[in-house]
Amino acid sequence: MPEPNTFESLLRNDITFPAFSDLPDENDVDPTYYDEGPYRFSPRRHWCFLGEIVDSYGLCRVLLRVKDKEGQVVTIGLYTDDRGQALAPHMKEGHTVAVLYGEQHGFMDMTVGIRVEEPSVIRIIPCSLEQLLKASDDVAARNLSGQSKCCGSCGKEENTSGNKHLRLCSRCKQASYCGEVCQKKAWADGHKAECKALVWVKWFAARNWGVFNGYFDF
Ligand SMILES: [Zn+2]
Ligand SMILES: [Zn+2]
Repeated sequence: MPEPNTFESLLRNDITFPAFSDLPDENDVDPTYYDEGPYRFSPRRHWCFLGEIVDSYGLCRVLLRVKDKEGQVVTIGLYTDDRGQALAPHMKEGHTVAVLYGEQHGFMDMTVGIRVEEPSVIRIIPCSLEQLLKASDDVAARNLSGQSKCCGSCGKEENTSGNKHLRLCSRCKQASYCGEVCQKKAWADGHKAECKALVWVKWFAARNWGVFNGYFDF
């Protein structure tokens, strides 16, 4: 279960999903994210950086330019064994990069950003950061108000429509519809992209970010 005090805000939570300026610096022990132990420092919680791709470049190594929640554009350098080639097909402008345990890094060319060494901490989510945050708000609202009572396409209410149960989208389990016609219409009208965002929000929401007992990976 997610931690109760941040449950409503999900991806808007600035400690779990910090903007670049709030990430720990790799040369410091940030007490928000690390405990200083007797031998070495260890994470005290989980966190994930989110940034939307605005550009990518680099010939032998992929470098992504991403814009974070606060609008700051930073570099993500892929220092994985394959230098980011596996991710290359998903690198589209407007898609969102998620980096678990990202830390502020100063690159040789004087830009700042995040250096990624493990392929398991980075994913590209095929929707914009805005879509992802909106999906997060939708999930948070649903968590507060309970099951939606209206068809996500025509708006028909569950009580008055004659249909006792709205059908839930089987992928995101978030959107609900009065029937197949409305479901198909909503999919064509944009739920396809929204659905992917919702599935990712649920992946994030299903984890307890406040307690560290081993690293998460994608
Ligand atoms: Zn409907
Ligand atoms: Zn869906």
